[in-house]
Amino acid sequence: MTQDTSAATTHNQPLSAQTPTNDVRQRFFIEDSPVRGDVVRLSRSYATTIAQKPYPEAIKRLLGEMLTAASLLIGTVKIDGRLSIQLQSSDSDSLLNWAMAECDQNGIIRALASWKADNDEQVQAWDNMIDAKQAFAELGEAGKGVLFINIQPDGGEPYQGIVERSHDNLADCLAHYQKQSAQIPTLINLASDGLQAGGVLVQMLPRTVQETVEVEQNQDAGIDDDLWTRLTMLTSTVKDEELTTLAASEIIYRLYNEESVVAPEPVSLEFGCTCSREKCETAIEQIGETEALDILEEQNGSFEMDCGFCGEIYKFDKDDVTAIFAE
Ligand SMILES: [Zn+2]
Repeated sequence: MTQDTSAATTHNQPLSAQTPTNDVRQRFFIEDSPVRGDVVRLSRSYATTIAQKPYPEAIKRLLGEMLTAASLLIGTVKIDGRLSIQLQSSDSDSLLNWAMAECDQNGIIRALASWKADNDEQVQAWDNMIDAKQAFAELGEAGKGVLFINIQPDGGEPYQGIVERSHDNLADCLAHYQKQSAQIPTLINLASDGLQAGGVLVQMLPRTVQETVEVEQNQDAGIDDDLWTRLTMLTSTVKDEELTTLAASEIIYRLYNEESVVAPEPVSLEFGCTCSREKCETAIEQIGETEALDILEEQNGSFEMDCGFCGEIYKFDKDDVTAIFAE
């Protein structure tokens, strides 16, 4: 294939002119088409997230893919709120118990996983795993284990979608889900090297009747029947190391520089937690006063509640507990 340098010059300018940063979601559109896409790159936000626990390498990488996926998918739903991806093992022998990653509409991400490393054999098994697919396989055989997409709009009803474990990796399962449930042709690539993560999502949105009529009446615009086939081919060429090392704008440029790409301002992504003392108090309230006082006595007059997502520790003594139930 010959390099079209004129197109390269035209399209490189607006993309590279944007501030390069490695924690972003960069939206892009293919002009005059129903195609929309996003590229997510996670660097510092991801490193901070996985530094909260001594995660085995394979889980670090799986969480990188899950965080990338959550950050990509929240861009496809029009809500103010949070989107999380949750993996749940249904097999008590699985080394991975569960994992979850979430992103909110402001680009705040966090993640957490629970795994077994109770004896030398289990520790050794984790040491032998090096990629996200192996951690994913720990959910059990194909068909076992459960994947959820949870959407929690602020002040609205939560929605949960169950993702079929149709493939041996998260990206293909999610693309399959988008196609089956939303009837939207979707391409998803995810990658994580344990230090950085990244991914791309491309969707062909349904045209409205009005748009279809307009496109058909406008002979010049025509319908680019070949576009989706071309984008599928181009998107499949992206390498994992490109997704984990290049800037988002560079990834878009490398893949789609022969298409007419429009890219608005990117959205910043960063690590953050939604835990609070207030939420701990609500949890204590739910335990009940008798039980809470029992725990206090067992713990010699005070207890701690620590947040697995961010490591924050909340301490409660007898006065605190009494105050919660006095209200
Ligand atoms: Zn927290």
